[in-house]
Amino acid sequence: MEFCQKCSSMMMPQKKAGKALLVCRGCGTKKQFQKKSFKISEHISHEEPEVVVVEKEFSSLPKTVVTCPKCAHTEAFWWLQQTRSGDEAPTLFFRCTNPKCKHSWRQYS
Ligand SMILES: [Zn+2]
Ligand SMILES: [Zn+2]
Repeated sequence: MEFCQKCSSMMMPQKKAGKALLVCRGCGTKKQFQKKSFKISEHISHEEPEVVVVEKEFSSLPKTVVTCPKCAHTEAFWWLQQTRSGDEAPTLFFRCTNPKCKHSWRQYS
């Protein structure tokens, strides 16, 4: 959002003769429209990978003895999943076998 330097009214983007301009709604002042460069914040790249295993597939997964961080159940299904573009080692995922919990989590190394 841009505001006029003369009268502080809102500047509206307009296209005239192929040029993008900002025109003041208050006093009509025109200004060359300048695209601001947005910095993409760093933390986006650290998003948690989604746990994308369909419900019916769980019964065929192997089980292991591990404590569920949610309900303290001591058995969980596990599987390996490639999380990103393939240049990283696959991540180990767990899913609590307690039918009331079904919590899924990934192993942090
Ligand atoms: Zn103005
Ligand atoms: Zn659990």
